[in-house]
Amino acid sequence: MKLALLIALCFLALAEDSFTTLRNKMVDSQIVARGISDPATVRAMRKVPRHLLVPPDKVSAAYDDGPLPIGFGQTISQPYIVALMTELSRPKPEHGVLEIGTGSGYQAAVLSEIVKEVFTIEIVPELGNQGKERLQKLGCKNVTVKIADGYYGWKEKAPFDAIIVTAAAEHIPPPLIEQLKEGGRMVIPVGHAFFVQNLVLVEKQKGGKITSRNIIPVAFVPFQREKK
Ligand code: SAH
Repeated sequence: MKLALLIALCFLALAEDSFTTLRNKMVDSQIVARGISDPATVRAMRKVPRHLLVPPDKVSAAYDDGPLPIGFGQTISQPYIVALMTELSRPKPEHGVLEIGTGSGYQAAVLSEIVKEVFTIEIVPELGNQGKERLQKLGCKNVTVKIADGYYGWKEKAPFDAIIVTAAAEHIPPPLIEQLKEGGRMVIPVGHAFFVQNLVLVEKQKGGKITSRNIIPVAFVPFQREKK
């Protein structure tokens, strides 16, 4: 009996080891090779076990170069896009960051390795609850998940140093701009659902002036609205 347990533990340790190897390969070939250079972002991407945030039948594809289905018509974003959005938000250890679209919890877990606090909102209750559970299991104590329509942001926790939106909106929700700190950054895919969208970097200057610029074309799932 004891021997069987020992053998099982050895297999688990070997499997974890091979996931670490795959993850480091993913970071080298998909992230660093494509120009992501912020050390904190690269470190977080090397650390977060993406294979524990995908559905069980997708574990073998967890380190592939693309998004994966997570149920309810939603996806876990491509690793490179998660890294790019993280780097663009210029995360610092003292920051409070808002994410709209918890989904699998992967983007929130990556941010939680870098910043002080992550607040994340998910509109699909089942995904929000699943994400919350997974993040707890991973030991991400500085992440708070709320089930709501992220269009309105999270007023009680605002203002935020950075906001990352992981679903494509046809316009930038004004409450999110309001809840961004002066000097803060928002990264958001803007455009029509099911067409190519632009990843937009919005900056709120000191004094409140808003500037924005397009970074790259992207394809995100649509930003949904709460049905009243
Ligand atoms: N950040 C996620 C990406 C998930 S896909 C990850 O790393 O896995 C985008 C998610 O945004 C989906 O789960 C979708 O349900 C959610 N979403 C869409 N519109 C939303 C809204 N208005 N408020 C909150 N979440 C929303």
